Amino acid sequence: MAVYKSKGIVLRSIRYGEADRIIDLYTRDAGLVSGIAKGIRRTKSRFGGRLEPLSCVDFMAYRGRTLDTITQVEVLRSFHEVREDLSRFEAAGRLVGFVRALSGGDEADRRVFNLLYHGLDALEGRSTEFEALEAAFALKLSILAGYAPQLDTCTSCGVGAGEVEDHHYFAPVLGSLVCSGCRPDVGEAFLVPPGTVEGLRTLISRSLKESLVEDHLRESVRRVIRAHVFAHAPGSPALDGSGTRRPA
Ligand SMILES: [Zn+2]
Repeated sequence: MAVYKSKGIVLRSIRYGEADRIIDLYTRDAGLVSGIAKGIRRTKSRFGGRLEPLSCVDFMAYRGRTLDTITQVEVLRSFHEVREDLSRFEAAGRLVGFVRALSGGDEADRRVFNLLYHGLDALEGRSTEFEALEAAFALKLSILAGYAPQLDTCTSCGVGAGEVEDHHYFAPVLGSLVCSGCRPDVGEAFLVPPGTVEGLRTLISRSLKESLVEDHLRESVRRVIRAHVFAHAPGSPALDGSGTRRPA
């Protein structure tokens, strides 16, 4: 029985059997993990309220074939303020959806764990502009996952984004800007209104806590990011924030 210890953030908790729950965590040392917390729904459970969604925990578990078994949990940070506010909680659900969509598998990436932690931390610290935070989070995550969007040049002919007084298009499958000359050759691409690219670059360069999108760019920034994430996570149901990967 291989026992291990890690930090993890609870992504989801679902009832299982009489008194158990299956907990999905994004862990610092093992990526996405599904574990069973036995007896957690009994009133005298040793877990108490320590595995609530979004909690960041230190836990101990032993590996199983499909499900690990969680044996000990300590809360490091509950993100209570995020869980108790509906709009924050929904925004957190979308951050989690992006994590499921872009960093599937059990490959551990501490940077993803850290990004999620900082995303929740930033969410707890703000009461508006959740959308800008979500956009920044998705962009930063796509970069960590190896899908950095190409925002400097047309990926097809190499012309710089600032070199032509032309419309830019974004081709989701390429994850790149394309110029109007190349657009017919690259398949699906949509027009990106002026200022959008700058807005995206700003989101990438700032910290999550400072993420901001100007009002008039909100729609176009969101469109680019969602199309980009979706193109690199096909088949993922996670984009509505309700990721449904189920253990066998
Ligand atoms: Zn071009």
